[in-house]
This record gives sequence, structure tokens and C-alpha cells, in this order.
Amino acid sequence: MSDNFPLNNKELSQLAEKFHTPFYLYDEKAIRENMRRFTKAFSIFPEFREHFAVKACPNPYILKVLQEEGCGADCSSLPELMLSDMSGIKGKHVIFTSNETPASEYKYAYEHDNIINLDDITHIEFLKDALGGKLPETICFRYNPGNEKQGCNSIIGKPEEAKYGLTRAQILEAYSICKKEGVKHFGLHTMVASNELNPAFFVDTAKLLFELCAEIKEKCGVRIEFVDLGGGLGIPYKPEQKAIDYDEVARGIRGEYDRVIVPAGLDPLGIYWECGRPITGPYGWLVTTAVHHKHIYREYVAVDACMADLMRPGMYGAYHEVTVSGKENAPKDHVYDVVGSLCENCDKFAVQRSLPEIKRGDLVIIHDAGAHGRAMGFNYNGKLRCGEILMRNDGSFKEIRRRETVEDLFATLDLDGVKDFN
Ligand SMILES: *Cc1c(COP(=O)(O)O)cnc(C)c1O
Repeated sequence: MSDNFPLNNKELSQLAEKFHTPFYLYDEKAIRENMRRFTKAFSIFPEFREHFAVKACPNPYILKVLQEEGCGADCSSLPELMLSDMSGIKGKHVIFTSNETPASEYKYAYEHDNIINLDDITHIEFLKDALGGKLPETICFRYNPGNEKQGCNSIIGKPEEAKYGLTRAQILEAYSICKKEGVKHFGLHTMVASNELNPAFFVDTAKLLFELCAEIKEKCGVRIEFVDLGGGLGIPYKPEQKAIDYDEVARGIRGEYDRVIVPAGLDPLGIYWECGRPITGPYGWLVTTAVHHKHIYREYVAVDACMADLMRPGMYGAYHEVTVSGKENAPKDHVYDVVGSLCENCDKFAVQRSLPEIKRGDLVIIHDAGAHGRAMGFNYNGKLRCGEILMRNDGSFKEIRRRETVEDLFATLDLDGVKDFN
């Protein structure tokens, strides 16, 4: 979406003068307001919690804002668990949905009383060993519905080809084993979509999980206390797309809850999400400056950010809206490829895009970069990743991550040792 950028050209120019482009900008007020809409929509359930997928925007300032709005955290690595903890998201508000997990990370999650979400039936034994012969009181399992779930989109792919989760047969066995081992509290998780905009898809996923909860109760005598619907709620990257209606998703899921969960005697059941993209995605932008023009077989505008700052377009061919600050209403009478400086031809933020005329020094805004943006950055080609700025509720600006320096990039090298090396 392109119409929610919070600064006019004068304000953005002042900001760019102070912090220098490229940088990420996040809008605290918009993040809070969105989170409140999300929470309100799901308040029709007896227990609801969103666990922000830390990987989408792993900055403790952002996590603190979300914590204040009642969010938990979804983590998949030790550093993400540590970031959540230092941001004040603790205990059972943290779900550890990892895969191929080292024993030391399970141990950390256990010692911090986080919910451990197991990705495989063999991980029951592995976890028990990691914890010195016992299991936690609470365990969740990640379910992979295989060919039961149709219509999954391309980022996640077909469930039967995905490396995640337990099969239908395994999941019943897994709960039975854990019950025998004395585990007291149980959750059920799945994640079968990414960037999906159709509310019906999530209602269908909830139905699948609810029916499985009823079956687990009947066949294993295990009462599931929460279902975790994963992430995957999409955002409208393209101008013709419409934002997903949280109320429609919540009402649809509530319908299935009343149809399946209540008669099965499983009410109250906690409804959890672990969304990243819809929580911060539309409220973060990559701000860059146009630095070069090329007129060859196509018209190119090169900006001072590159794919190392935002790799979704290069990696997935993902669409991000691009606007030029101060030229929001100017005619889009030029066609450009907007590119970065990486030695890879996929380093293009926009391809054959109709835009207003871009002059050197213009501030170019890349939209919907607040999730899976800075987080997916890298240092290939010796690129130094840019910093992050949070626009506070009162309109002030706080640098919440500085840009990288050459010293950062070289920090893991033994530069003294190399002098004597031959
Ligand atoms: C990536 C991921 C999420 C978040 O996905 P979004 O598309 O950002 O909502 C949630 N859970 C798991 C297990 C993930 O891998």
C-alpha cells in the first residue's frame, strides 16, 4: 500500500539530512493502532494471543511496542528467544516454533518457561534427552496436513512437500506418548500459508485444526488447550489488492469454533497466531536516494539501497510499491527499472515500473518493508546493511539500529593474524 507513508517531502528531507539514506523507517502509532484492531477482532474468543514472529522484524524496540500491546513472540532460534526476553516478552508468551533445533536451544527455552512447539515425533525423545530425562509440562506439536490441505500458495508450497511438522498418523501417536510421559498441557499448531489474503483460507485451516482437536480428545484422551494458527496473513503489496479484514477472519473462525469446539467439550480453547507480516509490514519503509541514471536498452534509476537491505524483490520477484517523495501526485509518465548496486541482476526493487520522472537526489520510498525487510538483509558483495528509525507516537524520531560499518563487517576476521600469515 502506498498511501500511508507518514511524512511529507519536507519532513522526510529533514530526516534524511540527519540520518542519511538508506534507512528503514517504522511508524509506532500505526503499528499500535493496527495491533489494537487485530486484538479487538479476536476478542470474540475466550482466550486470544498474537505471538509476533520475531524473524519478521527482530528489533527489541519494535518488540517492546508490541509487548505493550499484549503481544507474545514466536521464535525459531536462540538469538530470537534472547531478543524476546530482553524486550520483556517472557515465559509462556514465547512460543519456540523452531525446526532442526539444537539441544542447547531447547534447554534455554525450557529454562525460560517458553512453550516448545515440536516439529517432529522423534523430537520428543530428543527433547527429553536435552532436558536430562524429563519433558516440559506443556508441549505443542506442529501439524503438517499433507494433501488434506489444498490451495496453499507458492512461498510455503504444498504441505506434502514441506519439511515441517508431523503427519496425521504421527500426531495422534505423539500426543499419546506425551500423555503417558506425564505432559500436562497441550497445544496444536500448523502453518500452511504465506502472504495469503483470502479470509476463507484461514477459516478452513482453523476448521482442520479444530476437527483434529476433537479427534485427539476422542482417540488419545488428550485435551488441547490452545491452537496456534501460525502466520501467513497477507498484506496488500500490490495497488489492486485489498487488506484482509481481521473481523471477517475472526468471525469465520468463531463459526467453526461454535460448530466443532463447543460441542466437543473443548471450550475454552486458546486461539493463538504467530503473524509477522501483517503486524509490522505495512508500517515500515525503506527510504533511499536516487543516485544514478542509465539510459541503455532500458531506463535505469539506481538508488543507494540495494538487495542486501531488502531482498524480497530479488529473491521472490516480490512486488513492492515505489513512490517518489514530493511527487505522489505527479504523472507516472516514465518507465524505470529501479535498481541497487549489488553485482546481481536480480537486484531490482522495481522492474519496468511506471513512475514519475526521478531526478538525482530524489527520495525514493519502498513500501511495505516493515516485515521480512531489514531482517533478511545480508553482507554479500561487502554491502553494509542500513539502520532503522522509529517514528514515535509524538512524532519524534529514535534511531533503533545504527547502520553497519566496515568495522562491523570485519569484526569476525583476525586482521592482526593475517599480517603474519603466508
Ligand atoms: C515465518 C513464520 C511466521 C510468520 O510469518 P508471516 O508471514 O510473517 O506472518 C510464523 N510462524 C512460523 C513458524 C514461521 O516460519
